[in-house]
Amino acid sequence: MSSIQLTKRQEKIVEIVKNSGPITSEQIAKKLNLTRATLRPDLTILTMAGILEARPRVGYFYSGKSPRALIAEELRKLRVKDVKAVPVVVREGTSVYDAVVTMFLEDVGTLIVVNEEGFLEGVISRKDLLKVTLGQTDIHKVPVSVMMTRMPNIITTFPEETVYMAAKKLIEHEVDALPVVRTLVDSEGKEKLEVVGRITKTHITRLFVELGEAE
Ligand code: ADP
Repeated sequence: MSSIQLTKRQEKIVEIVKNSGPITSEQIAKKLNLTRATLRPDLTILTMAGILEARPRVGYFYSGKSPRALIAEELRKLRVKDVKAVPVVVREGTSVYDAVVTMFLEDVGTLIVVNEEGFLEGVISRKDLLKVTLGQTDIHKVPVSVMMTRMPNIITTFPEETVYMAAKKLIEHEVDALPVVRTLVDSEGKEKLEVVGRITKTHITRLFVELGEAE
């Protein structure tokens, strides 16, 4: 997608097409007192940016999409599976001490907690772990399951969900990370969540920067 910084002439062309479209390049050129050849690069840019649409034998017409609408369209195309990272998980019996060490080693701010079968059980954040240091707790003995946020209160996402929806969940629920899960149903018909990834505010920020740099 282009950075969509229109020149004065391109803005004029958009205005003309908005008011008089569908309109041929010859008619636009006439209105601007220019040759068709001079206009060609501008029309190419505006068409490629999705602002104008060209129909053979009909002419140019305004697609009705503002640059913001085009960015939104681009964002809604991206799926969680396109940007997710590998999950960093610990078992529910892991001590607070080992959880802190894992956070440093894996360079993450949120750990996903799984049960003995490997299914999603909870999430533990930096502040959850800091809270423990306020009490008299022995961090080598107390397991993360004591202070983690647990199911069914975990906000999750899934590979096919849009990144836009996942970002909305991060903001609405005021959390830094979401486990990416796949739902499995066991022999008793009970739903279990397999953890297949994680998506964090850092991923969204990176995407924002990439979109800002897109040519
Ligand atoms: P921090 O607590 O370090 O600021 P968060 O804002 O991510 O980090 O976490 C705030 C609280 O929400 C913590 O108690 C944490 O256990 C919980 N939490 C974090 N991620 C989720 C999630 N995906 N679903 C539900 N609760 C979460």
